[in-house]
Amino acid sequence: MAKYEFWFVVGSQFLYGPEVLETVAARAEEMAGKLSAVLPYPLVYKVTAKTNAEITEVVREANYDNACAGVITWCHTFSPSKMWINGFANLQKPYCHLATQYNREIPNEAIDMDFMNLNQAAHGDREHGFIAARMRLARKVIAGHWQEPSVQKRLGDWMKAAVGVAFSKKVKVMRFGDNMREVAVTEGDKVETQIKLGWQVNTWPVGQLVETMDAVAEDEVNAKMAEYAEKYTFATEDLETVRYQAREEIAIKKMMDAEGCVAFSNTFQDLYGMRQLPGLASQNLMAQGYGYGGEGDWKVSAMTAILKAMGENGNGASAFMEDYTYHFGADGKYSLGAHMLEVCPSVAADKPRIEVHPLGIGDREAPARLVFEGKEGDAIVVSLIDMGGRMRLICQDIHCVKPIMPMPNLPVARVMWQATPDLETGLECWITAGGAHHSVLSYDVTAEQMKDWANMLGIEFVHITKDTTVEALEQQLFLNDLAWKLK
Ligand code: MN
Repeated sequence: MAKYEFWFVVGSQFLYGPEVLETVAARAEEMAGKLSAVLPYPLVYKVTAKTNAEITEVVREANYDNACAGVITWCHTFSPSKMWINGFANLQKPYCHLATQYNREIPNEAIDMDFMNLNQAAHGDREHGFIAARMRLARKVIAGHWQEPSVQKRLGDWMKAAVGVAFSKKVKVMRFGDNMREVAVTEGDKVETQIKLGWQVNTWPVGQLVETMDAVAEDEVNAKMAEYAEKYTFATEDLETVRYQAREEIAIKKMMDAEGCVAFSNTFQDLYGMRQLPGLASQNLMAQGYGYGGEGDWKVSAMTAILKAMGENGNGASAFMEDYTYHFGADGKYSLGAHMLEVCPSVAADKPRIEVHPLGIGDREAPARLVFEGKEGDAIVVSLIDMGGRMRLICQDIHCVKPIMPMPNLPVARVMWQATPDLETGLECWITAGGAHHSVLSYDVTAEQMKDWANMLGIEFVHITKDTTVEALEQQLFLNDLAWKLK
């Protein structure tokens, strides 16, 4: 978490004289210090900017500083905004305008014209906001007193979204095999994706993975088995099968780490030389923060890694997910999400069990996998699709429940949820927008953060909420299509 920081740039001008500028600088430093104590990343006060040259210079430094994940501005006083144009025109980092004020309340006795000239964020932030609007900058505006916990929470959430952007620009995905044959939604333009999102998506031979697996030493497998024993409950006596998953996990991780990859995909149609589809192996890799996508779905794999990185402590409760089946019951309507094997244990309600069961798909030996129920709580599901000419990010608010039945013969991890606004309308909206069967399900990344992330990267965002109607969504998609053709 400590490797990123955010820069606090405060706008002013020379008109007020040195005393006011010293006060502004001292207060900005104090605010940055106090906010850093409660925000997920440090906020570093940089400058009280008074000239075009100062702003251009601090933006140049921000662009070239790898630690700087975003710039937060505020105008304690008035700051004529033409002086911001040259700097803003060059800004390449995420940008947030914190419309706040040093003092919380108007001091009845103390207020006079000196006070008014010093404390005029209400005035300065409007001038400041105009120029960003005029320049069509991608930005976040957060308004409220800087010591208000809800304001600090939103600022912290935005920081995590901005870190998701920094992370996205460094994502490398290791593909083993191509996409599942004939599947459409897992395809996509890898060149366009790299231009917009920064991802490097490339392929490595399954044969190299098999060679790497063969070269894994027994003591490495022993150490991995000890790790499994600590984290999970063994509900199988077939230790050889579990050891094979350990070998797969170690080999996949070695290959990813050697290339700096943070995510991988594979497909059951290309397991040449492998005895089991990686199940437990993929699940335990996801638990460490790696992204994964089944059936060659490199988009959901990268998105899983990104949402994990945006989450709590840089590896949150976010999981590769697949909508599997519905419960249209008189007792309630639910979606059941799962996958053939690969659901991340970060979303588990209880300690996962290692089980071995046959797998009809893929024509391989019965694989070991983690079986568990997902935890209860508010969450989102997110799907990135390629519309041809642009990427669309679809996000739906959901509420996960403890599965309403035990399903004792279902041999995979499962998460059950209620959709917004309801199962049928949400489903009609998701399908109308083109959302995939694969998604990332997250308990600690919010829809607002995903909207911010999409805005920062300049891709389309569609949000299905408790208030969404099919008619309004259809209208939005129609207008979006027109707008994106003009971009
Ligand atoms: Mn799938």
